[in-house]
Amino acid sequence: MRNQDDGSKIIKAVLIGDGAVGKTSIRRNYLGDEFIEGHLATIGVDLATKRVLFNDEIVKFIIWDLAGQPTFEKVRGNYYHGCNGIILVYAVDDRDSFDNASKWLVEAYKNMGPLPPTVIVANKIDLRRGRDQSNFVSTNEGLEFTQMFIDKLGVPATFIETSAKTGENVEVTFNKLLEMMSEVERSKQPAFYK
Ligand code: GDP
Repeated sequence: MRNQDDGSKIIKAVLIGDGAVGKTSIRRNYLGDEFIEGHLATIGVDLATKRVLFNDEIVKFIIWDLAGQPTFEKVRGNYYHGCNGIILVYAVDDRDSFDNASKWLVEAYKNMGPLPPTVIVANKIDLRRGRDQSNFVSTNEGLEFTQMFIDKLGVPATFIETSAKTGENVEVTFNKLLEMMSEVERSKQPAFYK
């Protein structure tokens, strides 16, 4: 897709997951000072853009941050359309957010049909250090969930554990998503360049 303003190509990703798992923090950590942000609080959507190298071309990478409130469910539907990638976030110290992960993917599927490349992110791993982890979501649980998702839906997906607080693996998450999205777009050529 081409941006009408300057003719550059646009790629889009959405961040989804329960409230307070760290979606906004992950996006901010990734974008650093570079980010330009619009806040559409009334409809529960934030967006930010960054220029990135994508298939040997500088493109505008738009990251939508969908607010988790159920009241916004209808509005949220619009933002899935035309997305090239998904980052689904849960927090390792919030088991409910992990249990809800599949609901988020169902919502995305309802709105998009077959899903684009997806990174499943287990955030807040810094909290694991020095704590009683008995109710924490383990790495294996995240890996198993991701594998089940790949097997059931045949979607290119990967699992990454992050901390938006320390920045651990945040850049890796977006780079991995860009890499998977770029593989999909390359396989679609030449239609992508129309
Ligand atoms: P969102 O509602 O999913 O966008 O979540 P936010 O980004 O607003 O984060 C919710 C809360 O969790 C805030 O108080 C953040 O400072 C905190 N938080 C986010 N990511 C991390 C993390 O990786 N580690 C820790 N310890 N706290 C985090």
